[in-house]
Amino acid sequence: MSFGPDCFTPMSRLAGTCYYEGIMISQTAISHLVEKLGRSNVLHEKEDLLTLAFDATPGLNLLPDVVVYPTTTDHVLTAMGIAHREGLPLVPRGSGTGLSGGSVPAKGGMVLAMTRMNRILEIDEANLTATAETGVITLDLFNAVAEKGLFYPPDPGSQKISTLGGNVMEDAGGLRGLKYGVTRDYVMALKCVLPDGSIITTGGKSVKDVAGYSFKDLLVGSEGTLGIITEVTVKLIPPPQDKRTFLAYFDDIRVAGEAVSKIIAAKIIPSTMEIMDRATINCVEDYVKIGLPRQMAALLLIEVDGHPAMVAEDAEGVQKILKQVKATEVHVAKDADEAASLAAARRTALSALARVSPTTLLEDATVPRSRLAETFAEIGRLTEKYKLKVGTFGHAGDGNLHPTVLCDERDLDEMERAHAFYDELYEKVLAWGGTVSGEHGIGLAKKEYLARQIGEGGVRVMKRIKHAFDPEGILNPGKIFEDEDLSTRSYKEDGSRVSP
Ligand SMILES: Cc1cc2nc3c(=O)[nH]c(=O)nc-3n(C[C@H](O)[C@H](O)[C@H](O)COP(=O)(O)OP(=O)(O)OC[C@H]3O[C@@H](n4cnc5c(N)ncnc54)[C@H](O)[C@@H]3O)c2cc1C
Repeated sequence: MSFGPDCFTPMSRLAGTCYYEGIMISQTAISHLVEKLGRSNVLHEKEDLLTLAFDATPGLNLLPDVVVYPTTTDHVLTAMGIAHREGLPLVPRGSGTGLSGGSVPAKGGMVLAMTRMNRILEIDEANLTATAETGVITLDLFNAVAEKGLFYPPDPGSQKISTLGGNVMEDAGGLRGLKYGVTRDYVMALKCVLPDGSIITTGGKSVKDVAGYSFKDLLVGSEGTLGIITEVTVKLIPPPQDKRTFLAYFDDIRVAGEAVSKIIAAKIIPSTMEIMDRATINCVEDYVKIGLPRQMAALLLIEVDGHPAMVAEDAEGVQKILKQVKATEVHVAKDADEAASLAAARRTALSALARVSPTTLLEDATVPRSRLAETFAEIGRLTEKYKLKVGTFGHAGDGNLHPTVLCDERDLDEMERAHAFYDELYEKVLAWGGTVSGEHGIGLAKKEYLARQIGEGGVRVMKRIKHAFDPEGILNPGKIFEDEDLSTRSYKEDGSRVSP
């Protein structure tokens, strides 16, 4: 099935339209959706729509016109056809745990909530792959493959609630990213509905595949702007046979940063190397009460895993470096339960910080790992300069930090200071060769920062890719960059190229 251009209503309503102008979908379209998808899979009352107006990013809250829950790829196609006919933007959504506004309906329209496409379709033990619908919860896939003695490593802090689709579209990282990589490293194939109504499957179970452009790699991290993915095939690996978990405490957070750089420079790659500063330690301790020492400036949660001989060697190497840099205290988890509860405590960091102030502004600054100590020093300097309350935690081993300003969006002066804090921090991060997003994506929240990182030329290339997939601009408009008509952007009237 394909929606030719003839059945499209011009998308004039897209430009600058948002929910304040009122619900735009016709009663006929709603009836059609209900008939095709079932009453319980279509929401259109304002009270229901309110619950899907935001994701986990503070300050972004825009009402959709209608929300549909497809349960099959055919439902996705039907919904897409109706969105086209009604001239409605189409906004794919997983669990809405995104931290850059990716699934917020920036221009209203139809939200396609994928959480009811949640079947694990196959665990292929011969090829070490799993195929699942994209609404499957990350941890559910992990548990299902673990039952077969296999391992799916990507584990975002949100794994109990995030979906595979959201993970793929944000290229989510996690606590194990340092050694095992991010979601992209495990995606082997995607089934995708394109904005013109065609369905492609890109990739497969072959471990090698260089047949033409790798659409799969283009789709990963595309934040729902190029296609709706309905199925994903991921690579599985054997689980590590052994692991050892440490908590190292520090009086000075810069020393923790130094420890991370030194461990990496010693060619030891732990599976996990997570950091929490004092503010985060205290919020987490208030929340989970596991006896974290409140007076410490920072802690590192370090886990080494693999073959027992390798684990023993790496553990010794890590301990040696922690001693060298004079970590204040090192605690070794006594068993797997304690190790799991320490990792679980780290996973609560954002929720724990979010309890203490009305607004939690979280960023995703990522630097080369050799720059970690300087980055902590810079965060400290800026915290004082702008008189803010900041808690920093993150995937230190990946150089990926989440400096989180605890503030109140009603205090305009404080919000201005918070934005100045991030502006100045990102200036340094970019000067050090870092990135404005290690894992949360650009979405609505970071469009300006993206242009700073990759320049106008880089943004223009991305817009052309978007235009090639989605010339009508129906899919998740307003994300990553401002929408614009690209048809005349690359060449001037005389045929010469617009310089990048
Ligand atoms: C407490 C907490 C901890 C977190 N920890 C981490 C972490 O450690 N690492 C990390 O990387 N992120 C983390 N995140 C951010 C977030 O969980 C991830 O970005 C996650 O991948 C989003 O998944 P989701 O299902 O909630 O997707 P959503 O937020 O609903 O959507 C994310 C993006 O994907 C698109 N999308 C969703 N499904 C589809 C689909 N089927 N087809 C096309 N597009 C789709 C949406 O349009 C949107 O652009 C955390 C968030 C929270 C709240």
